Amino acid sequence: MIRPQDLASLRTIPAVKAALSRSQIDAFSRQLPLLYLILVVNSVAVAATHAAVAPAWLAVWLPLAMCTACAIRLVVWVRRRRHLASLTDAEVASRLRTTVWLIALLGALFTSWGLLLFPYGDAYARAHVAFYMSITVIGCIFCLMHMRKAALLLTAIVIVPFSLFFLQTDNAVLVAIAVNVLLVAIAMVVILLNYYRDFANLVESKHALQAKQAELQRLSDENSRLANLDILTGLPNRRRFLADLDALFRTASAGHERFAVGVIDLDGFKQVNDLYGHGAGDRVLEEVGRRLSDVSGPRIRLARLGGDEFGLLVTQVREQQDLRDIGATICDMLRAPYAWPGATARLSASLGFAIYPDAGLSPAQLFERADYALYFAKEHRRGGTTIFSAEHEKQIRELGKLEQALRHADLESEMSLHFQPIIDVSCDRVVCHEALARWSSPALGAVPPSLFIKVAERSDLIHTLTASLLRKVLSTMRECDRAARVAFNLSARDIGSAQAVAKIVDIIRASGIEPGRLTFEVTETAVIHDFEQAAASLEVLKRLGANISLDDFGTGYSSLTCIHRLPLDKIKIDRGFLDRIDTDRAAQDIVRSIVQLCRSLKLTCVAEGVQTDAQASVLLELGCTVMQGFYFGEPTPFDGQSVVV
Ligand code: C2E
Ligand code: CA
Ligand code: CA
Repeated sequence: MIRPQDLASLRTIPAVKAALSRSQIDAFSRQLPLLYLILVVNSVAVAATHAAVAPAWLAVWLPLAMCTACAIRLVVWVRRRRHLASLTDAEVASRLRTTVWLIALLGALFTSWGLLLFPYGDAYARAHVAFYMSITVIGCIFCLMHMRKAALLLTAIVIVPFSLFFLQTDNAVLVAIAVNVLLVAIAMVVILLNYYRDFANLVESKHALQAKQAELQRLSDENSRLANLDILTGLPNRRRFLADLDALFRTASAGHERFAVGVIDLDGFKQVNDLYGHGAGDRVLEEVGRRLSDVSGPRIRLARLGGDEFGLLVTQVREQQDLRDIGATICDMLRAPYAWPGATARLSASLGFAIYPDAGLSPAQLFERADYALYFAKEHRRGGTTIFSAEHEKQIRELGKLEQALRHADLESEMSLHFQPIIDVSCDRVVCHEALARWSSPALGAVPPSLFIKVAERSDLIHTLTASLLRKVLSTMRECDRAARVAFNLSARDIGSAQAVAKIVDIIRASGIEPGRLTFEVTETAVIHDFEQAAASLEVLKRLGANISLDDFGTGYSSLTCIHRLPLDKIKIDRGFLDRIDTDRAAQDIVRSIVQLCRSLKLTCVAEGVQTDAQASVLLELGCTVMQGFYFGEPTPFDGQSVVV
C-alpha cells in the first residue's frame, strides 16, 4: 500500500536540482527588470514611429496594454523578490514554470504585434520593425542566459516566424536581415547552451561544496561535543568545565554577579574499585552522573573532572546558606545506596565551594580554593560541605610561609629524630622504637610533624625530607646495639613513586644496616590512595628484608581484600579508638575484631596512643599485647642508650 509519506517523497525535488532552480531564479530576478526595460522601451519606440501610419488599436492601444501588463508583472516580481529565500523548493519550481510560460506568451504576443505592424509605413518604418524584432529578441535572450528553457522557447517563438516571414518577402534587404538574424540566433543558442552548462556545473559544484562543508561542520560539531563530554557519565568533562568557568567568570566580573565553583569528591569510591573491580566502579560513576544530572538546571551546571571528582558551577549566589542547601542535597543524593546484581555499596561525598568574588579574583584561583575547601571538608567534615572562608585563606598563607621556610631549611641541622618505644607488654620488652621527625626552624621555631610533613607532601620536597631523615635514622642505628629495631614513617608520596622507593632501597643498602631491623610504617589512607603502586612499593621493601606496618588502621575504611594483598607484618590500631576503650563497649568491640583479624592473618597488632594503665589493661584483656604511647614512654631524642632492646 502506498502511504502519504511515500507520495510526498516521490514529489520531493532532488537537492541539486532544487539548488539549480534557486540559483536560476535568483540570477534571473536580477536581469528581469532589464528584460522588461528593453521590451517596453523598444516597443514604445516602434509604436511611436507607427503612430501616424497604423491604426490606433495597433499602434497605440495594443502596445499600451502589453507594456502595462509588462509593468505590472515587473512590479509584482520585484515585490516577490524579497521573499525568494523563504520559498520552498516546490514553490521555486512552480514559479520557474510560470515564468517560462509567461516569457513564451510575451514572445508570441510581441512577435505577432511586430508582424502585424510591418505592412504599415514606408521602407524605413518596415526596416525599423525588422530591426526592433531582431534586436529585442537578442537582448531578451541575453537576459535569459540562466533560463535555458525560456531562452530556447523564446528563440523558437520569435526567430522561426520572423525568419519565415522575412524570407518569403521578395525584398533582398529583408531576406538578408532574416538570414543575419537567423545566424546570430543560432550562434547565440550555441553560446547560451555552453554558458548554461557552465552555470549548471558551477551551481552543482557549489552545492557539493556546501554539502561537504555542512558534513564537515557536522563532524566538527560532533567532535567538539565528544571532546567536551565525559563518555562514562554523559556529563560535561573537565575541559568543558574549565571553559564554562572561564566564560562564567567573564560575564560575572562584567556584571558584578556572584557565583560559586564547587568540587565534589566521593568518599569510599576507591574501595568499591578495589573490592568489586573497575566494572563496578564504572557503574557507580554512571549512577553518580545520573544523580548529579538531576540536580543540574539553569543555575547549576555539573561536570566530571576526572576519577571520582566532579565539579559544579552555581550562578546567582546570594547567601552562603543557599550553597550549603545545594551541597546538602547533593551529599544526600550521593549517599543513597548503589546497587548492582550481587552487591550494594554506600558512598558519601565531600564538597568544597569557593565564591566569586570573596574567595578569588581569577578562574584558576577560584578553582584552587574550591579544591582547598574540598580538602578541608575531607579532613574535617567528611561527607559534608565546606565553603572557602577567610580562615582558610589564613591557613593557606601560613602553609605557604611554612613551605618557604621548609624549602630553605638546612635539613641536616634543623631536622632531628625522636624515638618512642613500642613495648610487648606480655614479656615487658621494647620490641622497637618509632622514629618521629622534629623540625626546629630558626624562623618559625618548633613545627609539629603533622604540619610540616603535610606541607612537604604537597611537592617533591617530601622525597628529599624522607631521604634525609632515613639517613639520620640509619646513622643512629649504627651507633646502637645490633639488636635495636626502628620503625620509620613513609609518606603516601614516597610509596606512590617507584623512583622514591628505589632511592630508599639504595640508601639502606649504602648504610650497611640489616634491612630486617627496619619497619616501614605506611598509613592506611596512603595505601588506598594508589593501591596498585603502593602494593608494588611495599613488595620491593619487603623483598629487601624490611618489615611493613599499616599505620593509623581504622581511619581509611580499607577493605579486607586490600589488607590481604599487602605484604604486611603489623597493623597499628589508630589512637582514636583508644580514647574511650576503657569505658566504651563499641570501641572495645572494634579493637577486639581488629585483634582477631591480625591473629587470623598472622600479623602483629600494635595499639598506639596508650596513655593510661586502664587502657593498657583493657587492651591486654582484648588480646593486644604490643603497645605504644605516653604511658610507656614519650618520644625522646637518642641519648646513646634508649634505642636499645
Ligand atoms: P604517627 O605515625 O601516627 O605517629 C604517632 C604520633 O602519635 C606521634 O606524633 C606521637 O608523638 C604521637 N603519640 C605517641 N603516643 C601518644 C600518646 O600516648 N598520646 C598522644 N596524644 N599522642 C601520642 P608526632 O610525633 O607529632 O607525629 C605525628 C605524625 O607525623 C605521625 O603520626 C606521622 O604520621 C607523621 N610523622 C612523624 N615523623 C615522620 C617522619 O619521619 N616521616 C613521615 N613521613 N611522617 C612522620
Ligand atoms: Ca607511625
Ligand atoms: Ca599512627
